[in-house]
Amino acid sequence: MKALVYHGAGYKSWDTVADPQIEAPTDVIVKIDATTICGSDLHILKGDVPAVREGRVLGHEGVGTIVEAGSAVTTLQVGDQVILACIKNCGRCDYCRRGVHSHCAGGEGASGMGWIFGHLINGTQAEYVRVPYAETSAHKLPEGVTPAQGVMLSDILPTGFEIGVLYGRVKPGDAIAVIGAGPVGLAVMTTAGLQGASRVIAVDIDESRARGALDFGATHWVNSSDPDWRDKVLALTGGHGVDVSVEAVGIPATFQMALDIVRPGGNVANVGVHGGSVSLALQDLWIKNINISMGLVNTDTLPMLLRLVADGALNVDKFATHHFELGNILAAYDVFVDAAKTKARKVILHG
Ligand code: NAD
Ligand code: ZN
Repeated sequence: MKALVYHGAGYKSWDTVADPQIEAPTDVIVKIDATTICGSDLHILKGDVPAVREGRVLGHEGVGTIVEAGSAVTTLQVGDQVILACIKNCGRCDYCRRGVHSHCAGGEGASGMGWIFGHLINGTQAEYVRVPYAETSAHKLPEGVTPAQGVMLSDILPTGFEIGVLYGRVKPGDAIAVIGAGPVGLAVMTTAGLQGASRVIAVDIDESRARGALDFGATHWVNSSDPDWRDKVLALTGGHGVDVSVEAVGIPATFQMALDIVRPGGNVANVGVHGGSVSLALQDLWIKNINISMGLVNTDTLPMLLRLVADGALNVDKFATHHFELGNILAAYDVFVDAAKTKARKVILHG
């Protein structure tokens, strides 16, 4: 088959590789119908994720059709179209039984890592992929939901809702701010209404990204390259600060911005993946009763979000800005890398 292979920092190519095989009775093999590229793939390609070895097929988001099922798989069948959660879920280990699938200790990544696709095992940017623990990690695509819609549920929608909205303890009537209006920040804004947020302020250094968030549930936007950006956010909250500020970029400067605009007693939810440490002014924060949360997505809300998409209660159509055939994935990477110029949000690769 053909697949997008990582060849060390800075190098990738669309190669012919061996077809995946069933390795455990709980595996299925899926033919990819739709996949996409994530900011994390770009981190890997920069060499920021040393666990990814040369020769690894990248990608952790996908929708596909089952072409072969292991002997223990009874609830899924050959021919079923499924959404692949970016996190494996064995359903049996201590972490899975507590709902913390991000640290699933089953099989591959047994040290307790749920993110394995395109990281510890071959991923979804390929014609075929082996899916471990398929019955609990793959979700049937309901009628009426397209593969391009379904692929938004592999990672970004659950990440935005779980790590931004739920960990951030968003409540009815809350004013929230989301720093970073990329696909993940937009997923936070898209799902914040599910917990009753009434004011959603998009903050981004790129004005077109901040303004574009109005299509994803934001009620206001602020350009953070404006020296008065903080005053503008405070003015939208009666001078108090937001109830919840969500960091969806992954650099120290934006984490500090999130701390700078939260009201006393509020929550800061860090969603961004950071490559280094940040400093915490605990001497100022403790007396403000600030709660700080963070985490790797569990994807346990995927089935609930999927019902909302299937019933038309959650619109995910605007995330996809560009479409390519899977074999053109190198061109899709070029468009995605240059998002500031191409205005790319999610690029969809059709298998
Ligand atoms: P992205 O790079 O597409 O978007 C980031 C946005 O932040 C862009 O719109 C950019 O203009 C803006 N930005 C950059 N610097 C800024 C600054 N100084 N001030 C204000 N805005 C700034 O990223 P994404 O795909 O939306 O992902 C966001 C983060 O979420 C990444 O760090 C990603 O790795 C992380 N992530 C986390 C999880 C998880 O499980 N926690 C899962 C998926 C992705
Ligand atoms: Zn598990």
